Amino acid sequence: MNPILKVNDISKHYHQPKQSFFDKAIVTKAVHKVSFELKEGEAFGLVGESGCGKSTTGQMLLQLIKQTSGTIFYKGEDVSKFSRQQMKAWRKQVQIVFQDPFSSLNPIKTIEWILEEPLIIHRIGNKQTRKQKILDTLADVGLDESYLTHYPHELSGGQRQRIAIASAIILDPEFIVIDEGVSALDVSVQAQILNLLKSIQQKYRLTYLFISHDLNIVQYFCDRIAIMYFGEIVELGTASEIGNDPKHPYTQALFSAIPSLEDDREIIVLSGDVPSHANPPSGCAFHTRCKFAEARCRTEKPKLNSIGEHRTVSCHLYEKEEGRNAIRRTV
Ligand code: SF4
Repeated sequence: MNPILKVNDISKHYHQPKQSFFDKAIVTKAVHKVSFELKEGEAFGLVGESGCGKSTTGQMLLQLIKQTSGTIFYKGEDVSKFSRQQMKAWRKQVQIVFQDPFSSLNPIKTIEWILEEPLIIHRIGNKQTRKQKILDTLADVGLDESYLTHYPHELSGGQRQRIAIASAIILDPEFIVIDEGVSALDVSVQAQILNLLKSIQQKYRLTYLFISHDLNIVQYFCDRIAIMYFGEIVELGTASEIGNDPKHPYTQALFSAIPSLEDDREIIVLSGDVPSHANPPSGCAFHTRCKFAEARCRTEKPKLNSIGEHRTVSCHLYEKEEGRNAIRRTV
């Protein structure tokens, strides 16, 4: 499959204002040198604790916020070099679904108005063809004509998320970022929305970036997964590879925290909090919480090592020894 999106070393750094002339400048690295590719038609999961930079990464991909450095290529074209007109045309191809549809849907407008607005902005069809498109899209998300006159507050959480999805697909996009799209829903409704997203992915031939803190859901929904910690990708691979054999100690801890009926499973409890961006740790950012940390981890930052055809891990435990094509050690 061809990459629809290629991300090279993107970073988002925020410079904190100095309190006094003598203070050291503080730079918060919300995202630091993240690289990956999204293949056409795949669901790619971005997972990590809150504050790890996954939502910032998603928003940079859509250029809702600009990266500090690095490049993003969409179908081979550098999006930062798009003209105004190209950017407007591209905006039609890429969409986002947020966690809380209540805040992303205009509360004083009807569902018909909300769904017609993007068609009007992009000058698509006339009143009659737009109405038909709205009805077809509503049917695709499992709702009927009776919802047209409703307001968002009159709908349940699941229905509102269906409208948010309808609003994302009404322009026939190619790529959608789903940012914690089911996290605010009840478990039974989560399953319905995930199934809906799967079915419209096939019908509309969509590529998804699925952002979530819930590894269980991501493993079920996605083809490949990248695990983020403290603004960086620490492990990347197919959902089955990572699910069956997580390598990075942080990924292992995340998987061990998923509830299971297996009694003999070791639950890895991470001690300590995610480090502060204002005072980042030296070496591996995970060393303050890692039970395998050794002296080197405190001073030397691990590289992203390839440990399989499509698999990478950022950890000294998986480094190849100089001159030999072998993994030094496995956990
Ligand atoms: Fe743990 Fe060291 Fe690997 Fe970091 S590099 S995850 S501290 S073993």
